Amino acid sequence: MTKPIPQPGILDIALYQGGASSAPGVSNVVKLSSNENPFGPSEAAVKAVAVAAHQMHRYPEIDGASLRAALAAHYDLDADRIALGVGSDEILSNICNGYAGPGDEVIYTEHGFSMYRICALASGATPVVVPENQRVVDVDNILAACTDKTRVIFVTNPGNPTGTFIPVSELERLADAMPAQAVLVIDGAYEEYAEGYEGGAELAASRPNVVMTRTFSKLFGLGGMRVGWAYADRAIIDVLNRLRNPFNLSTIAIEAAKAALADTAHTKRCLTENARLRAWLSGALEAHGVMSDRSGANFVLARFDDEDEANACEDYLRSQGLLVRRVAGYGLPNCLRITVGDEPSCRRVAHAIGAFKGGARA
Ligand SMILES: *Cc1c(COP(=O)(O)O)cnc(C)c1O
Repeated sequence: MTKPIPQPGILDIALYQGGASSAPGVSNVVKLSSNENPFGPSEAAVKAVAVAAHQMHRYPEIDGASLRAALAAHYDLDADRIALGVGSDEILSNICNGYAGPGDEVIYTEHGFSMYRICALASGATPVVVPENQRVVDVDNILAACTDKTRVIFVTNPGNPTGTFIPVSELERLADAMPAQAVLVIDGAYEEYAEGYEGGAELAASRPNVVMTRTFSKLFGLGGMRVGWAYADRAIIDVLNRLRNPFNLSTIAIEAAKAALADTAHTKRCLTENARLRAWLSGALEAHGVMSDRSGANFVLARFDDEDEANACEDYLRSQGLLVRRVAGYGLPNCLRITVGDEPSCRRVAHAIGAFKGGARA
């Protein structure tokens, strides 16, 4: 009997793997596997959701206009050049849907975010993976991989799971030299955490082929609300608006995001704590012989001697109720990605890694 046949590429998609969130048989579990904000959302956002809940019989704004206006005011941008997504994931996939299809190529880098491959395959396009240079995005390698079939180029800056970042001048060089028919996506999910990096807003404002994507899932502590946004030339925003569903963001998500954006005291405290504890954690790991690159994000990529040691350490941490992320699927089999938690969590994970290096096993 014949059966329905999905489009080419669909069955090549491996399901997105989220970070572990439970450790059977262990109490006092700390989740450091999904780069969530350890301080949670702003209290103002929680209150805004409670108030908005009374309106849940009403359809939300069709295009999140009030949130776009708030973002424009906060970051000094043009509200008409902002499109909202159900997480930035929705935007990443609609960029592929809008600009790439069968026979086209979508470029991302060796240790790039796993959603890029999923988005490329879902649109029917061919993923093209470009080498990085010692866990850092290499613009020349990307340019060397460009062809007349290139339609989308994804660069995460700072990178996930590497945490490294390249300067805006390098992104500019890429935007200038890449093929004119392609869209450059600068995924800024961790942009706020990178000191001295101004991000892609200027580039997205000044060029027709650059999209900056941002999210409320990390610094703003709203991963469960699914709010992301894009800033780009109006022609690209128009494409994203045609592809997204009307009413894609719920009223509670819109209200939570506006309140979170306005609570600058909370975000400032989260940023300060992250910077302090990130430096402390990488120093503590180094003292145990575990190296990491300088991170511009809210996690540290810990490097072990080899894949076996990384896996054994992850097993041991899990047995201690500490959940971190294996990243073999990102081409980093000897590494573990550890979200910077609050101070007790950072101390616990550093202590446990010290014990592991001293011979403790799960
Ligand atoms: C977390 C993350 C996102 C954000 O995803 P949302 O869909 O907005 O939750 C996007 N890109 C990268 C690289 C990320 O790590």
